[in-house]
Amino acid sequence: MPFTSLGLSPALLRAVSARGYLSPTAVQAAAIPAVLQGRDVLATAQTGSGKTAAFSLPLLQRLQQTPAEKPRRLRLLVLVPTRELAAQVGEEIRSLGQHLPQALKVAIVFGGVSINPQMMNLRGGVDIVVATPGRLLDLADHNAVVLSDVAALVLDEADRLLDLGFADEIGRILALLPAQRQNLFFSATFPTAVQSLAGELLRDPVHIAAPAEPQGEPDITQRAITVDTGRRTQLLRHLITQNAWRRVLVFVATKHAAEIVADKLRKARIYAEPFHGELSQGKRTQVLADFKASRLKVVVATDVASRGIDIAQLPVVVNYDLPRSAQDYIHRIGRTGRAGESGLALSFVSAGTEAHFRLIEKRQGVQLRLEQVEGFEPLPTGPAMALAAPDAPSTGGIKGKRPSKKDKLRAAAATSAKGA
Ligand code: AMP
Repeated sequence: MPFTSLGLSPALLRAVSARGYLSPTAVQAAAIPAVLQGRDVLATAQTGSGKTAAFSLPLLQRLQQTPAEKPRRLRLLVLVPTRELAAQVGEEIRSLGQHLPQALKVAIVFGGVSINPQMMNLRGGVDIVVATPGRLLDLADHNAVVLSDVAALVLDEADRLLDLGFADEIGRILALLPAQRQNLFFSATFPTAVQSLAGELLRDPVHIAAPAEPQGEPDITQRAITVDTGRRTQLLRHLITQNAWRRVLVFVATKHAAEIVADKLRKARIYAEPFHGELSQGKRTQVLADFKASRLKVVVATDVASRGIDIAQLPVVVNYDLPRSAQDYIHRIGRTGRAGESGLALSFVSAGTEAHFRLIEKRQGVQLRLEQVEGFEPLPTGPAMALAAPDAPSTGGIKGKRPSKKDKLRAAAATSAKGA
């Protein structure tokens, strides 16, 4: 089905084609006509499904159907869980709306930065606000934003909004909105709390379940390499150089590890930056911009900071440290293989983490062969490891200094793998 058959205006079709979208994704094909008719929508959609354009395009068109007013009134509110997502969604709305006959003003607001520039930006009115809930309420408390004219509300990544503890804030925001409005609800998962929020919010919604990727199943190859923890940075360097990877997202467990691994890569002349929750918003935005513009080859990120990272062409994701849960694993590897491209998700597994990796695999119903890379084969367990450990570079991770403990873990992992 072409975009032209969905009932969108020429200005929006022009923006769609300028962004290189050839045909609508499943969620777009289902949501756009329904939203244009004014229906509420309940969509199961992941990041990568094209959900942002699915709600933005028809809502932009609906905003154009009412005459422009001065001062501008806030008519479309999009709530998102993180600052990164706020920035991305806001930018996509601006880009999709750039050719509209009546220019619409989009404000992007999120916490963790000074509120004053955001208040200044809202002066004189805006048409659209993309916000994280806490900061939106702060702005409403300061009378910097008026919510009583909102005609359409989008909850984007509703499950993450609730995971991050925004239930109360959402409740307070809903109380400030007019009762008569259109509601769109997007979530990747539907645990009970999400279902009940959807039930409270939506009137006779159109149900949409979209696959995670525009072109069917994501094409992500998963691989696992066994390597001793102390040699992971060396292996990473080797793989980046050997495979001439242009853009790699590396996941680590802590802010400290992000700093150290990025630093070591830089020392090896691989341009890398850490990306974690304690960096300033300005720095995070800069890192993402550099990564997208290929001024940066590697970003070393923690899970918290990575939420909402959306890089269209990200061929490789590396789990330097394994994620804590299977859900985080899915979220991490879903950063690659976006928009119909193929991706590689590589996990470093050591003797101490193999049992945990097997659990993650089991939850997903896959079993990967543990590969070895020549020159980086794990050392045999026992006293030999203790001899090798002092030469291994520090990576911020756990080193193999206590072979006896590792031996036990390795034995446990072997037993658990057999039993799986
Ligand atoms: P989203 O699910 O909104 O985060 O979008 C995921 C990615 O798919 C983004 O990089 C979008 O720019 C891209 N995208 C959205 N719609 C389409 C489309 N119809 N065709 C190709 N790529 C798209």
